[in-house]
Amino acid sequence: MKAVRMVEAGKPLEFQEIPISDAGRNEVLVRVRAAGICHSDAHYRAGRSSMGKLPITLGHEIAGEVEWVGSQVKNVKAGERVALHYNISCGTCDYCKTGNEQFCTTVRMLGHHVDGGYAEYVAVPARNAIPLPEEISFEAGATLMCASATALHALRKGRVKAGETVAVFGVGGLGLSAIQLAKGMGAAEVYAVDIKQDKLELASEYGAVPIDAARCDPVEEIRRLTKNKGVNVAVEMIGLPQTMKQTVASLGVLGRAVIVGISRVPLEVHPYATLIGYEAEIIGSNDHLLEELHILVEMVRNGTLDTSHVVSQIIPLEADKINQRLDELEQFTSDVRAVIVPP
Ligand SMILES: [Zn+2]
Ligand SMILES: [Zn+2]
Repeated sequence: MKAVRMVEAGKPLEFQEIPISDAGRNEVLVRVRAAGICHSDAHYRAGRSSMGKLPITLGHEIAGEVEWVGSQVKNVKAGERVALHYNISCGTCDYCKTGNEQFCTTVRMLGHHVDGGYAEYVAVPARNAIPLPEEISFEAGATLMCASATALHALRKGRVKAGETVAVFGVGGLGLSAIQLAKGMGAAEVYAVDIKQDKLELASEYGAVPIDAARCDPVEEIRRLTKNKGVNVAVEMIGLPQTMKQTVASLGVLGRAVIVGISRVPLEVHPYATLIGYEAEIIGSNDHLLEELHILVEMVRNGTLDTSHVVSQIIPLEADKINQRLDELEQFTSDVRAVIVPP
């Protein structure tokens, strides 16, 4: 089969003809119909993350058709449309057994530790295959498996309840999903904080109250809009020390700040003024769970989450086109979301 693979860290990906992956009796072989090109893939190609054995096929946002199922597989059939959960966990360790499989001691990620979706076929454990209804395109299904799923996990970690107020810091792919999902979970008001006008416009199209942090102090603005109460839940999806502080500072009594963006700079908080006095919580949110993907697919099917804006570029399974797209992601030159559609 055709595959575009990372052969050496810091070098362009290469096109290779390789054997179709063997699928075991508890696995399925999936014909890839769409594979999202993610910002993480640029990090992997550059060698900034420890990878599985090279060469390796990148691609962790995958949707396709089941080509073949192992003899023990019961949950999906050949010919079915599926999207794939990218974390392959053991299913038997303490973390897996308690539903926290992102901490599985032997977790391996598709397109990072094992061969992923920049190829014609990929083999995965059958439980990683999430049925994808006809109403959702393969392209949208693929991209759901990363940013949207991580946004849903963050809101669930923040325990968003109907009637609550939510602030979303950063209106990228994660933030736009978070705005819609928070609305779908019954949030009375969602405040969207960013410094880019086009993103804020998109946020208000999805029903959020836009807050332009280039023109005002977003914490003061949130306090003003909530009659000085602050929000119930604030989610940080940028990874900057300043926005993390603002996220925490925008909370009200019993507020929950959920940190999704990654920063190596320590986050300073005042124990009384920030935490004790409000009984506030600061919660880390890491990746997402298999069970959440089934919920997410249903939220797209029933119209809670609109994926029509997500994919804006279709790329063939060709090394130079994929490398070019990864170069653009490295240079932050565009917000275009690209998906590979193999032949
Ligand atoms: Zn991704
Ligand atoms: Zn495990």
